[in-house]
Amino acid sequence: MAQKLNVGIIGAGYAGMAAAVELAARGIPVTVFESARQPGGRARGVLHQDTQLDNGQHLLLGCYHDTLRLIGQVGGNIERDFLRLPLQLDLHNHLTLQAPCLPAPLHLLMALLRAEGLSFNERLRAMRFMLAMRLRHFRIAQDTSVSELLAQYGQPPALIEKLWEPLCIAALNTPIAQASAQVLLNVLRDAFSRRRADSDMLLPRIDFTQLFPKRAVDFIERHHGSIHFSCRVESLQPAPEGIALHTSENVHTFTHIICATSPTAAAKLLRPLPELAGVVAKIDALQTQPIYTVYLQYPAQTALPHAMIGLHQSTSQWLFDKGKISGQPGLIASVISAEGAHQQLTHDELCMKVIAELRKQFGIVELPHWYQVIAEKRATFCCAPNLHRPGQSTPLPGLFLAGDYTAGDYPATLEAAVRSGITCARTIMSKS
Ligand SMILES: Cc1cc2nc3c(=O)[nH]c(=O)nc-3n(C[C@H](O)[C@H](O)[C@H](O)COP(=O)(O)OP(=O)(O)OC[C@H]3O[C@@H](n4cnc5c(N)ncnc54)[C@H](O)[C@@H]3O)c2cc1C
Repeated sequence: MAQKLNVGIIGAGYAGMAAAVELAARGIPVTVFESARQPGGRARGVLHQDTQLDNGQHLLLGCYHDTLRLIGQVGGNIERDFLRLPLQLDLHNHLTLQAPCLPAPLHLLMALLRAEGLSFNERLRAMRFMLAMRLRHFRIAQDTSVSELLAQYGQPPALIEKLWEPLCIAALNTPIAQASAQVLLNVLRDAFSRRRADSDMLLPRIDFTQLFPKRAVDFIERHHGSIHFSCRVESLQPAPEGIALHTSENVHTFTHIICATSPTAAAKLLRPLPELAGVVAKIDALQTQPIYTVYLQYPAQTALPHAMIGLHQSTSQWLFDKGKISGQPGLIASVISAEGAHQQLTHDELCMKVIAELRKQFGIVELPHWYQVIAEKRATFCCAPNLHRPGQSTPLPGLFLAGDYTAGDYPATLEAAVRSGITCARTIMSKS
C-alpha cells in the first residue's frame, strides 16, 4: 500500500505538518510545499532586534492531546518545552481563581466556589452553570451566541465580564455576542470535565517554529519525505493518475493532495475547480477576527507578578511575562484578541496605551527600550453559531483540506489545525 501512495501537502503550518508527520511515520512518501521561507504559518517564530518572538503569543491547553502527542513524536519534551500552569486565572485586582489539587471537575467547582472577586451569588451561579452544562453533556439543542446562553442560565453581568467573556475571547477569538455557544461548550467540556491536567495552561518556552514545525521538518526528512520552502503552489488540476500541482517552476503529480493553507489561500487555489464551488462558497462565508500582540522590551529587572495575568476592561486583555516563561527578562507581551476599538489606533498609539496600563496597574515607570506590534488582521475565522465549515474530504477525489477552519469541534486553534491534518492523513491511508 505504502508504495502506491504519493501525497503532496500545501502549507507547512501546524495542519500541514501534522498531516505530513502522520503519513511519513507510516512510510508514505510526502512532499510539502511552503510559500514562506520557514515552517509554522500563523504559529511561527519571528526575530526582532535579536530577540526571538512569536508572531503572536500562543498558549496550549492540556486537552490539546493531538498537538502534544505530535510534539513528543517529533522529539519535543512537553515538560521542558512548556511552562505548565495548573488551572488558575488572575484578572488583576478583579478575579483570582485557583484550582485545588482535586480530580476534574471538582477542581473547577472548588476553584469557582473559592474565587476571590466574585460575590457569593456569582460564584454559585457560575458553579450551577457548569453543573447544568455537564448534565447536558455540554450539548445544546440549538446553537446560539455565548451571550444568549449565559443570559438563559441567569449569569449576572459582572460574572460574565470577569469570567465568561475573557474565557470566551481567549478560547474562540470572537466577542461573546457573536461567538458560538456550542463551540465554547466543546472547549469547556474537554478542558474541565475529564482529567485535571486537561485544564492546565501550557506556555511555550521556545518559539512556535522550533516547538513543532521545525522538528517536524527534520522528522519528515529522516522519513524520506521532502519540503520545499519559498515554493508557492499556484494551481491544482485533476490528472488521470491523481492531481497535478503547479508551482512557478514545476508540475508535480500526486495520488493525493492535502491543501493545508489558510482559508483565504485555499479559496484562491480551489476557486478555478468547478467541482469545488460548494466548498469555496463555505470558505467565502467565513468571517475573520484579528489578534494584536504588543511586545515591549523593558529593562531586565522589570517583571509582572505572574507569568500570565489578565486586565479587566483594559486595552490589554492578557499580559505575559516572557522573563518568567522563556528566560527573556523584561520582555512583556500584551495580547488583544478579537475586534475592538484598538484597531482604530496607530501602532504607536496602541503601544502608548499598553505602556500607560502597565504603569497604572503594576507601577512600571521605566520606558521600554523598544516595542513591536504584530497585528494579525485575519488571525482566525470568526467562530459564530451554526457555521458550516468545510469538511476535510472534498468532492474532488484525492483532494483533502486541512486547517483550523475546517470542520471540527474546536475553534481556530493549534489543536483544530493538527486534528484536521491527522484526519486527512488517516482518511488517505484508510481508503488506499
Ligand atoms: C496572533 C495569533 C495568536 C494565536 N494564539 C493561539 C493560541 O494561543 N492557541 C491556539 O491554539 N491557537 C492560537 N492561534 C491560532 C493558531 O495559530 C492557528 O489556528 C494555527 O496556527 C493554524 O494553522 P494552519 O496550519 O491551519 O494554518 P496556517 O498556520 O495559516 O498555515 C498555512 C500555511 O500555508 C502556507 N501557504 C499558503 N498558501 C500557500 C500556497 N499557495 N503554496 C504554499 N504554501 C502556502 C502559509 O505560508 C502557511 O505557512 C493564534 C493565531 C494567531 C494569528
